[in-house]
Formats: sequence, C-alpha cells, structure tokens
Amino acid sequence: MGIEIRTFPAGPLETNAYLVADATSGEAVAIDAPPAVTAALVAAAATEGWRIGRIVLTHAHWDHIADAAALKAATGAPLAAHPLAIPRLKEPGSAIFDLPFEIPPVEPDELLDDGDEVRVGETTFRVLFLPGHDPAHIALHSAPDQALFSGDVVFPGGHGRIDIPGADQATMDRSLVRVAALPPETVVYPGHGATTTVGAEGWLPGRTRKD
Ligand SMILES: [Zn+2]
Repeated sequence: MGIEIRTFPAGPLETNAYLVADATSGEAVAIDAPPAVTAALVAAAATEGWRIGRIVLTHAHWDHIADAAALKAATGAPLAAHPLAIPRLKEPGSAIFDLPFEIPPVEPDELLDDGDEVRVGETTFRVLFLPGHDPAHIALHSAPDQALFSGDVVFPGGHGRIDIPGADQATMDRSLVRVAALPPETVVYPGHGATTTVGAEGWLPGRTRKD
C-alpha cells in the first residue's frame, strides 16, 4: 500500500519536517524537527490515526533539530541520528550566528549509519550517509516507494551549502554521485522547498537533463 507523506515547513528558514506513514499499519516516522513544528505534526498524526514510532534527524543544523526535544517529549518516540551528530545535539546552536532562541540539548536514542534500515510498519527505509553539507548528514531512501528524504543534500536546482563550518565540496560531490545513481523517477523530498526528482536534476554528476 506504500507510504503517505505530510510536509510541515516551519521556522525562520522554512525547514521541512516530514511525517511519513506506512499506509497499511499506520506506523509513522517524523523526519527532522524544525522550530515549533511539534504541535502541527502531532495533531496531523492524531487526525490520521498514525502512531509516530521514531524521529529521524537528517543532520544536526539548528533549523532541523530545534524541536527535537519537544517532539520526543510529545511523542515518546526514540530519536535517531548519525553518530557524528551527537556533539552538536548536546550543544545545539548555529556555527554562523547567535540564535535569538535557545535550543534544548538532546541525546539520540538510536544511531544510524550508511546501510542501516529504518522500519516503519511494512515499509523499510535504507540509510544513506551523505556528508558534505554537514559531516553528520544522512538521508532515508525507499526503493519500492521511489522516495528519498534528502535533508539539505539535494534541492530543486542545487545542493546544500558548502560554505559553512563542517561542509566540504569534494565530500559533497561524492555524496551527489550516490544520489545521481538512484533511479531517475525517485522523488526527492528536500529539507527546504518543493519536491523534485533525481531525473529532473540535470546538474547532478553523471546526469543530463532529459525531462
Ligand atoms: Zn543544513
């Protein structure tokens, strides 16, 4: 029956949180926790009758983790992230400027790395470790559902910033090669903005725009 997806842009950078449910079982995963997203996300799950069984953080930038503690408290769900996210989740903040609000520290309950699986009911996501924008960056891919939750790796028309601390162009390029190797019909659900597909992003290494 596949997956159902709700998108919640939140916070000053309109960071997308996703609520992704396995349609058969109603089991759901929350992906990313932008500022003040918790109430809307939890209400949507209640309306749909979905149970949020896990929270996954794609990476540790403040606009993706600000509500992690609140979302965890509201759902009781375990929080999962890449091991390299631990230090920044302990001392959250921006590496570039002072935030006008405090982000409560949080500890992951589960660690995810390349090749790990995230089960959501009958749906299984494969974890891709895609550093470059952030050293702790992961994405979730479901081949049967043709869906990639890409965080800040791929947006329509370009990749995530590499001019910030911890970012690196060569590392990003290697991650982009892996994204480009996914089937072209794969829908990309990015950390900001609208969805796209791997095939539509002709700038990805090794791809030329065909559609
Ligand atoms: Zn980011």
